[in-house]
Amino acid sequence: MAIPAMSNMPLINNVFIISAAKVNKIFEKQEGFFGNLKENGYLCTRKKKQQFYYIRTVCYKLQFNNIMSNNELKPQTVFEQFAKINQIPRPSKHEEQMIEYLKNWGESRGLDTRVDSVGNVIIRKPATPGYEDRATTILQSHMDMVCDKLVDIEFDFNHDAIQTYIDGEWLKAKGTTLGADDGIGCAIELAILDSQGLEHGPIECVFTRDEETGLTGAEGMKDDFMTGDYLINLDSEDEGEIFVSCAGGRNTQAKFEFKREEAPAGFFFLRGQLKGLVGGHSGDDINKRRANAIKILGRFIFQTMRRYDGTRLAQFHSGKLHNAIPRDGEFIIAVPNDLKENVRADWNVFAAEVEDEFHVTDTQMQWHMESAEAETVIDTQVARQFIWALQAVDNGIYAICQDEALGGMVETSSNIASVHTGDSEINILSSQRSNVMSNLDNMCATIQAVFELAGAKVVSSDGYPAWKMRPDSKLTRLAVETYRELFKKDPIVRGIHAGLECGLFSERYPQLDMVSFGPTLRFVHTPDERLHIPTVQMVWDHLLLILKNIPKK
Ligand SMILES: [Zn+2]
Repeated sequence: MAIPAMSNMPLINNVFIISAAKVNKIFEKQEGFFGNLKENGYLCTRKKKQQFYYIRTVCYKLQFNNIMSNNELKPQTVFEQFAKINQIPRPSKHEEQMIEYLKNWGESRGLDTRVDSVGNVIIRKPATPGYEDRATTILQSHMDMVCDKLVDIEFDFNHDAIQTYIDGEWLKAKGTTLGADDGIGCAIELAILDSQGLEHGPIECVFTRDEETGLTGAEGMKDDFMTGDYLINLDSEDEGEIFVSCAGGRNTQAKFEFKREEAPAGFFFLRGQLKGLVGGHSGDDINKRRANAIKILGRFIFQTMRRYDGTRLAQFHSGKLHNAIPRDGEFIIAVPNDLKENVRADWNVFAAEVEDEFHVTDTQMQWHMESAEAETVIDTQVARQFIWALQAVDNGIYAICQDEALGGMVETSSNIASVHTGDSEINILSSQRSNVMSNLDNMCATIQAVFELAGAKVVSSDGYPAWKMRPDSKLTRLAVETYRELFKKDPIVRGIHAGLECGLFSERYPQLDMVSFGPTLRFVHTPDERLHIPTVQMVWDHLLLILKNIPKK
């Protein structure tokens, strides 16, 4: 397998210089070739595979030598800071080198720099002349990054520097996460601290630790660490959108205890399986009204138990992650021999009805029913209470935000995330979210009440707090007006039905007026992560205009 046209490329310092577009073309070609081999059912030899990966690695190496040397990256000061940050390993929970870097960075410039007991860093910059009477503004981003890479790339996130390259309007990394989430936020802050001649009041630049694996930096921050009046969080991923609210969340677990027993004689065992649902994130995607495998399978068992007295439940398994909508699941039930055909017929009717209900969101549902080996069953009373509770429990959207400004965003929701039957226990995991804390309490209480009525033991986790929209927010108004002035269009003001560090800040600093925005990122938390370069300049200009216009204290 030869690399096409490689010999025609210019050779400088023994390195082929080729454009990113060219590399991608070569790439596509080889991947297509590799894909075809598989698709056509040919045996793909190890040697072919090695060749493929070798070429891919060569392509990456070629790209390494063709990067970040140009003027496309503006504002230059922000991208310079970002390039330096990307030299420093900073996986979540292992940010020691980044903390050290920030500390030295601030101190070496004579700026008031502090590190708190959990590792958050704050660097203060005084107002520029004439702006001393302005309110203090906090700029905040998280210093850690998600570490993910392609399988065939050798990379040690604890030692190696992220290698970036430009592809059209996007900045990407060579086979790893880029760390623009939220390294670009950190870079913007450092650029502000580093720039002379800007116009702004007192500034506090805050860099939190470990946002990605539990928000523990923001969680552990003491209430006297930041002293500002306004906070701009730079961890949002869509330029042109200004976030003003986020959800709080909590998990609720229910546990039923039971004894297994022999099924009555003359019973027939059936396994029902459902797969192919779309699923998704239980916060971000809950507004899409997709099917939940647990609710659907539970509903079929409920219907069967009501219709055929004596139906026994042996197994029910569905769902994994607390924050995902379950995409598949299966159960085993036992029914008297003479009823098995009725149950199969019911299953087919039920499948058709459910497919019709979800004919827009879930068009690839796969239903399967087969006979199963006989086994022990859950005692009748507990099985019934469990299935009745699944039928009764609220799921999906519970309430929509009352603020018109948030345009019909989901305010409160619940997702039954997993169900597993064992030898003596049934465990159910669900997660509740709301952008209003009292409604989060209410949603959790609703779930708890249903399962307790059914005889389960229920516990709720501590979770994380919501950031409620402030209709009177001066900072939001300023962010909208300055955006309009700069770009001659309105930004979208919105909330997010998932957690942000702002939720924790709003609990600890109730007076703080906050917004969140940032440059456009795509495919974050994957090796495809990319930063839309032109939006960095837009966010920079917007931020400077906001800072210039921050009100007096
Ligand atoms: Zn982030």
